[in-house]
Amino acid sequence: MADSAAIFSRDDQRCQLALGGNVFVVAKVWNGEMKIHIREYEQGRGRWFPMKRGIALTLQRWLELVSNKSRIEEAMERQPGTLRCHLGGNVYAEMDSTYPGLDIRKWYWCGKENTIKPHKHPGIKLNVDQLKQLLNCFIAIPDFVSELSNVVPCYMNQDHMNQFGYFMCSECNPNGLSVWDSTHM
Ligand SMILES: [Zn+2]
Repeated sequence: MADSAAIFSRDDQRCQLALGGNVFVVAKVWNGEMKIHIREYEQGRGRWFPMKRGIALTLQRWLELVSNKSRIEEAMERQPGTLRCHLGGNVYAEMDSTYPGLDIRKWYWCGKENTIKPHKHPGIKLNVDQLKQLLNCFIAIPDFVSELSNVVPCYMNQDHMNQFGYFMCSECNPNGLSVWDSTHM
């Protein structure tokens, strides 16, 4: 995996790991919060510019994605398997029978149709090769982002020890009590 440090020079960035096809995993601080971006970049005037196609994950959502590593690998082996990983809030990583890669994007609650629907923001769709590189990043990223060792999964928070706290959490249950069953598979 190429670390493309030479093409980025922003000091608020910890790493830029190439997934191929101009998609990078970039850990950087924005508004005082460390986030891990999986994003497309384009080169122009000697530097790389972030594109709209991408997603910025909080460290907790990144950890949630990493915790699904074996599920993702299993789904890749089924070629193409189906998979839905809830990363927190209305962000999901999905693989379906029509697309063997991974689609990571925001969804929103559509009350009229009583279901969640893809947000108009494109998110990022990784092909199989890019997804394999992402799995390598799961191992590499903690070397750049030491803060990850202090992050605990949301469900392990003290106020989640009873079910009510869990249900009231906008990360774990973003669309309220009534829709729990339909969005969590
Ligand atoms: Zn939670």
